[in-house]
Amino acid sequence: MRFSQLCDAYLELSQTAKRLEKTALIAALLKEVPDSDMAEVMMLLKGRVYPEWDKTQLGISSKLAIRAISMASGESETKIVQQFKKTGDIGQVCQQLLSKRKQSTLASSELSVKDVIKGMRKISTIEGSGSVDLKLRTIAHLLNNASPLEARFLIRILLEDLRIGIADGTIRDAIIQYALEKHGLHVIPADKPPKAEDSGVQTPAQEWRAAVQDAIDRSNDVAKVAVTARHEGLEGLRGIDLTIGVPIRVMLAQKETEVAAALTRVGTPAALEYKYDGFRMQVHRDKEGKITLFTRRLENVTDQFPDVVEFIKEVKVACILDCEAVGYDPKTGKYTAFQQISQRIRRKYDIDTLMKELPVELNVFDILYHENESVYLRPFEERRKLIEKIIPNRPGHIKPSDLLIAHAEAEVESFYKKSLAAGNEGIMLKTLAAPYKPGSRVGFMVKMKPVMDELDVVIVGAEWGEGKRSGWLTSFTIAVLDDDGNFVEIGRFGTGLKELEQEGGTTFSQVTDLLKDDILAEEGKEVRLKPNIVVEVKFEEIQRSPSYSSGFALRFPRFVRLRDDRRPEEISTLSDVMDAYEAQRGRNK
Ligand code: AMP
Repeated sequence: MRFSQLCDAYLELSQTAKRLEKTALIAALLKEVPDSDMAEVMMLLKGRVYPEWDKTQLGISSKLAIRAISMASGESETKIVQQFKKTGDIGQVCQQLLSKRKQSTLASSELSVKDVIKGMRKISTIEGSGSVDLKLRTIAHLLNNASPLEARFLIRILLEDLRIGIADGTIRDAIIQYALEKHGLHVIPADKPPKAEDSGVQTPAQEWRAAVQDAIDRSNDVAKVAVTARHEGLEGLRGIDLTIGVPIRVMLAQKETEVAAALTRVGTPAALEYKYDGFRMQVHRDKEGKITLFTRRLENVTDQFPDVVEFIKEVKVACILDCEAVGYDPKTGKYTAFQQISQRIRRKYDIDTLMKELPVELNVFDILYHENESVYLRPFEERRKLIEKIIPNRPGHIKPSDLLIAHAEAEVESFYKKSLAAGNEGIMLKTLAAPYKPGSRVGFMVKMKPVMDELDVVIVGAEWGEGKRSGWLTSFTIAVLDDDGNFVEIGRFGTGLKELEQEGGTTFSQVTDLLKDDILAEEGKEVRLKPNIVVEVKFEEIQRSPSYSSGFALRFPRFVRLRDDRRPEEISTLSDVMDAYEAQRGRNK
């Protein structure tokens, strides 16, 4: 398929904010996509050139993009920067400049969607000396082979900022709409998925919706689902099963803060488990004994965990397991916090040493596939029995998660206390009769853990003061850690620090001295800092916010104290922020 066709769709998609219109546009596009290009089109619709679980980043800065546009268009970098500042859209600037080229009389190029993916991946893998120059020339070459409209979107994809706003749900609805039309069924507007209470007789649209959603959940592959829907219809979709080796989106828990509410939600008797403060690991073992490990973000981490691979060798059957890998201190045997072992996920060298310093215990809490069949739809109770049958109980290595069947609130309270005392984050409560629902946040798995009202954050930016504050850094941009160990911004504080030492407490001048060596870049009064200094902040409220990379903003954050006992890897996480946000919403109800 030609890339120009996709760009026409991008353009139309960017001109509407209405989800139904977007759905219809994508459904129409799908008609045109040959089977062999479906995977590429699905990725490019989301502005990606690698599958969702591949964390390879293109790593192109806007500065480099500007240089490449300059090279391709012959326009000066200064002029491009000026125009960029005016419009805020580098893609559009690129389109305008390239439309002035002579060869742009050609209506469109010969670029295919496969060429685009291949070209982009090539750029991302250029390394070593002279790599910047080679990247520049490769991008300029790609732009020169593109029509102006294509160049606009190429630049946006390169900067990983496509901005046409397509959610996974829209793609799912588009597949449904496309399939219904293709099979000559009435199209009803893609509204909400069918509710449990509607069960009974399903309309064809509901049947298709359920089949498409389930197939996506099981395969985690929208391209495969679209092609199957095209050729094999409902039966084909229903035949798509979990595949050992292909990661599945994990089931997520809802949160409750009160024992009574949690129990009401999951029903009694309920299964209680420790909520380990580790990280989620999805384990696949095929019939030949090949083992693959994935994180919650579906990243393949098999090479980083040879110890876990050894544990799984003791599990003699083919299976897909959902687990929590939790770190412990090899001297005391006590569980350690997630941040301690987070480096094991990313480390690509010295793995053996790190494995000894930071051992993990694998707690198996769910099973989705066993021997020759999927078991994720079976009741939790049955799945647990399978776990107990196949997973050896070897604390410090691998074991079924600690579990108690509780009948009353008092039992939950005491299990909660016991779990916290053992160094865990809290507890999970699970409905005995419930299935496993990939990719969904469900009410039959509930988490309970204490909520925090202050956060440990790292300073990643600041602003030089003026007037009597000149010479000091005064306003500080702060960040928390996301699941992948990236620092994501969450707000700015300027209060809580003192101007004079006599006032007691930490002063601007002291913090400035600490931060001076961490300055990475300066522009005007703004400085970008190496994440190094950890501080504790209090705040009034957490809000959702597009202004910060975490997606959240702290309202009125104020400095409490320096936390020089903490390393940046040990600060609060995005999931702490989400919990505090949810708890606050609960309180405001
Ligand atoms: P949260 O990250 O706070 O949303 O809590 C859900 C996470 O708790 C899951 O993604 C798992 O990584 C983790 N977890 C720890 N212990 C368990 C358990 N026994 N059952 C399910 N999830 C667990």
